[in-house]
Amino acid sequence: MPELPEVEVVRVGLDRHAVGRTITRVEVMHPRPVRRDPRGPAGFAAALTGRRIEGTRRRGKYLWLPLDNGDALLGHLGMSGQFLVQPPASPAERHLRVRLTLDTTDVELRFVDQRMFGGLSVSAGGADLPPEIAHIARDPLDPGFDDEEFVARVRRRASGVKRQLLDQGLISGVGNIYADEALWRARIHGERPGERLTRPQVRDLLDQARAVMREALGQGGTSFDALYVNVNGESGYFDRSLHAYGRQDEPCERCGTPIRRVAFMNRSSYFCPSCQPVPRIRRVAPPAAVPE
Ligand SMILES: [Zn+2]
Repeated sequence: MPELPEVEVVRVGLDRHAVGRTITRVEVMHPRPVRRDPRGPAGFAAALTGRRIEGTRRRGKYLWLPLDNGDALLGHLGMSGQFLVQPPASPAERHLRVRLTLDTTDVELRFVDQRMFGGLSVSAGGADLPPEIAHIARDPLDPGFDDEEFVARVRRRASGVKRQLLDQGLISGVGNIYADEALWRARIHGERPGERLTRPQVRDLLDQARAVMREALGQGGTSFDALYVNVNGESGYFDRSLHAYGRQDEPCERCGTPIRRVAFMNRSSYFCPSCQPVPRIRRVAPPAAVPE
């Protein structure tokens, strides 16, 4: 599943190749990826044709292309989506769903998505910030992200800190992998209640999340020279240096204790049980048995 760094890599690639270009033709090969657009596939195509792409923006894992009429092309990559910048002559990908022809012979934009949880839509008036995603918080790489506010909000809540990291209304763009990595670096177990963490602990966790994302970004930026923007992550995902995620039973790089995996919200959490001790749950003692 693409996480924020992958989406940012795509944004940079689109920025380099698509901005200033006019969309001359739109082909929707499958209706599902444009299902969120109330106009339907034909209306979606009509709303984009002839529009000039003015820029590229991102919030969390959503990205959008502001258009010259104040609307925006809004995209989400879902589980398996890819936004590719390809030479028009290159063969169609097996799961090509939407093709945008531009006023250049160099490249075209292709939305490829095998499982089709992602999609595209035209957001009316969404050039600055599509109303569809206005409820999503800024991500920690956004210059407008408010660190103090984040720390205060985490510490007001009783819920586990990993759950909070994945809460898109609080902080966006931190997926399961980066949450586990940031927690490992900060030596905090994901089930620790936010309200029981100190201010420096939450601040450190935020710094670590940022560091993990920046490192991933640094490694993802190399794939574009081939004019191919890949976000699926199959090639780049696991060759990154991950310390916790996906390393079940391997020794923790700090202390040698085997990394543990536990189920978490239909997915998995990976952690070091000695660097990140499981919080003790306060149990209410059962009522004492009353003698008959
Ligand atoms: Zn450890």
